[in-house]
Amino acid sequence: MKFALLFFVFILFLIGCSSDNKENNKSSLSESTDLKSDSIQPIAIVIHGGAGTILKENLSDSLEAAYLTLLDSLISSGFERLENGEIGMDVVESIINFMEDSPLFNAGRGAVFTANGENELDASIMHGRERNAGAVAGVKRVQYPISLARKVMENSDHVLLMGSGAEEFAASNGVVLIDPSYFYVESRYQSLLRVQEKEALNKNTQKEKYGTVGCVVLDAYGDIVAGTSTGGMTNKKWGRVGDSPIIGAGTFADNSSVGVSATGWGEYFIRYSVAYDIAALFLYKGLSLQAACDEVIHQKLAPIGGDGGVVALDKHGKVSLTFNSKGMYRAAKNNNGVKIVAIFE
Ligand code: ASP
Repeated sequence: MKFALLFFVFILFLIGCSSDNKENNKSSLSESTDLKSDSIQPIAIVIHGGAGTILKENLSDSLEAAYLTLLDSLISSGFERLENGEIGMDVVESIINFMEDSPLFNAGRGAVFTANGENELDASIMHGRERNAGAVAGVKRVQYPISLARKVMENSDHVLLMGSGAEEFAASNGVVLIDPSYFYVESRYQSLLRVQEKEALNKNTQKEKYGTVGCVVLDAYGDIVAGTSTGGMTNKKWGRVGDSPIIGAGTFADNSSVGVSATGWGEYFIRYSVAYDIAALFLYKGLSLQAACDEVIHQKLAPIGGDGGVVALDKHGKVSLTFNSKGMYRAAKNNNGVKIVAIFE
């Protein structure tokens, strides 16, 4: 009898191990972790610099090193600031400001060009405590769109402002409007010409158009904050706006579940409410963060051509960097010893 009982317990133990392994094997493109103990306040940060056809053979060693060094220093400094008790809103804003200053990323200074040879920038930010949010779309004279999104959240009754109205709001809130020539980056302009040439020959250029930056944190006060900033897609027309400034599509934060920042083919991310869908699967279906990201990015988007990915974290400090494209500039760190800095699959 005693032996039968022991045997039964042993079988239960084996079943437990095998279901853990199944969860771990599910996604080769994703990384996640558990916190060892609930006794410490979890803190975590995840960052992306865009997803797409990012192949090692197309990236020179020096450029690859430049991206990795930048991602590494951003994730380390962001984490250190969270450890020092800085609020999540400030950390997300300044990490994204840094990326908006870099011509390496399609946001702020490095924004891609529209079909008219202009730069139209979108951004959004969300605070998970009260689900407060701010966003701007199609601004042309704002150096730091994520900071303007924060002002929309904090200084207006609105969530999303666009175009000249958003710039009027910016000016009335002390933001200096800059000359659009600030956004001229030669390599981005050459990308526009290349895409236009190929499109004139009816070639598919979709996968060459991506980029965007995003950051999500869980701070020392249990607040989740998510932000996303982008120039959108190369050669966009007619005032096209993607998912990045759309709360629930490109950005979402909720202290009781998860925070998400997305990058990829924005139309799909809007249609599938990607960021909110991940939160809903976590909250209502009880999926783990990783399982929720896998379901949306791999099961729902990949089969229909919705290229891209997300960086996400949950209220426990678990992180997920999940994408269905060839690569995603990404980094993560939490106080459970996880640190990831990577580009390719
Ligand atoms: N999602 C962005 C957009 O569609 C682009 C990107 O993330 O690469 O505007």
